[in-house]
Amino acid sequence: MTETVQKDAPFIEITGELCKGCKLCIDVCPKSVIAISEKLNGSSYHPAYYTGADCTGCALCFYACPEPAAIRVVKP
Ligand code: SF4
Ligand code: SF4
Repeated sequence: MTETVQKDAPFIEITGELCKGCKLCIDVCPKSVIAISEKLNGSSYHPAYYTGADCTGCALCFYACPEPAAIRVVKP
């Protein structure tokens, strides 16, 4: 979960403690750049994380996520 993120291109931040591991963001991401951690968060869910590159900033993951604050899309 400590991938280096390219900050001069669009990227997402997922707050792992708010994620419930439903994988909806993974299903909708056209670039397949979200994965599920092997680690558990404090609520015993396997949280999603950004794999570190190639996000287009399309925000489909943001709109698919049922947890309003779990995903933040950043477009520099
Ligand atoms: S903003 Fe789009 S490309 Fe980036 S992680 Fe979300 S769904 Fe994938
Ligand atoms: S859609 Fe939201 S709650 Fe579901 S796995 Fe992705 S970040 Fe977690």
